[in-house]
Amino acid sequence: MTGLSVIIAGGGVGGLTLAGMLTRQGAQVTVLEKTPSRLGQGAALAIWPNAMLGLLSSGDAEMYEEVLALGRPVYHALMGSLERRWYGRVDLRPLSKRYGVTGLGMVRTELMSTLVKLSGADIRYGHEVVGATPDGTVTLSSGETLRADVVVGADGIGSAVRRALLPPGSVDRLGEPHTGWQGVADQTDIWDGDGPEFMFGNGGAAGLLPLNGGRTYWFVDGSIETRPETQGWPEIMNLMIAATPPEQLAKDRVYTRPPVRNWGSGRITLLGDAAHPLLPTVGQGACMAIESAAVLAARLRDTTDPVAALRQYESDRFKRVTTVFKRSITQVRQRAIPDAVRNRMLATMPDKAITFFFTGSAKPIPEFADAHLPGRRVGGRA
Ligand SMILES: Cc1cc2nc3c(=O)[nH]c(=O)nc-3n(C[C@H](O)[C@H](O)[C@H](O)COP(=O)(O)OP(=O)(O)OC[C@H]3O[C@@H](n4cnc5c(N)ncnc54)[C@H](O)[C@@H]3O)c2cc1C
Repeated sequence: MTGLSVIIAGGGVGGLTLAGMLTRQGAQVTVLEKTPSRLGQGAALAIWPNAMLGLLSSGDAEMYEEVLALGRPVYHALMGSLERRWYGRVDLRPLSKRYGVTGLGMVRTELMSTLVKLSGADIRYGHEVVGATPDGTVTLSSGETLRADVVVGADGIGSAVRRALLPPGSVDRLGEPHTGWQGVADQTDIWDGDGPEFMFGNGGAAGLLPLNGGRTYWFVDGSIETRPETQGWPEIMNLMIAATPPEQLAKDRVYTRPPVRNWGSGRITLLGDAAHPLLPTVGQGACMAIESAAVLAARLRDTTDPVAALRQYESDRFKRVTTVFKRSITQVRQRAIPDAVRNRMLATMPDKAITFFFTGSAKPIPEFADAHLPGRRVGGRA
């Protein structure tokens, strides 16, 4: 549907991706972002084929190509102990062969800058949304009101749009936060890995992900109060921390919340963490936001009734995001398994089975998988 006016609350990965897709469909999009300039929490991201084919599905390859260019492709992942003994190997080449793209490691600020550039939207920084009503009216903290055919709350886990829309308690977070440290190390000679490494132990996990330009994304799940060097992680993590510029070292405190079936009313809906926040254990929160943006854009493209399109989008997304949410919680529970038991399990499981479980969420939904025609040049092939 061209000529649609859309207000998106939140200029994160989800909001900006949706903006780019909708402006390419002829919509007039305004993004309201409460921070003065938003580059995003989290040093780097793994972006998986499910998100990449979501970008491609919009029918305009520009977003796909630009995001692809930011990413360092990875074709396998290793899983093991804190001593860096590897018990399981994930083969990502079948994903690449089937979908034309594999997992990509990228710096979050670079992804955000690219999405801003591609959004085509009127992005208003320093504009905090405090209320929204089903008739498509949005209220800002300044007291100003704006109106649009469609309002999308892409304003993250503490979403003000969600609070305005759903009954009290709907913004509550689930349980204890998932805490950790992460960063992007500049140095190239510490680690020559060409795929992600996941090391389990200490009741948590540590990991490495190669990025473009010889950089490495590292993370540890652990106590948020003390610096990670003091927590008994493998020596390579200490080297990574030492090679990380201070402004690239971040600690995070992440919450989740189970998806609910109805996350919209009238002209309003939710997207990304505002609708379905995920723990980073499956590396899919941003990917789900991109996937949801692509589904929402498709529903709005194919209709003259935007309200019906929003309800269709919510209904189409519920099962998928609930499945991925459950996987993210299962991953947390697996970290509590005694190390010796986990290592034995990994060592006795065939790599094909490990690959199957690891890539479960990374496979594109059928609607987008079909958009990848054999022989089409989309890059990233092994
Ligand atoms: C350590 C860590 C590692 C992760 N790793 C991965 C990974 O490898 N792969 C992956 O796919 N995902 C990963 N994630 C998850 C991913 O970061 C999130 O799921 C993703 O950022 C969600 O995007 P979003 O646009 O929905 O929300 P957000 O990124 O939270 O963006 C919301 C935006 O809304 C703005 N906002 C908030 N309130 C208001 C308001 N009232 N008015 C206006 N604006 C507002 C915020 O300032 C923000 O810019 C990771 C997360 C963490 C913390």
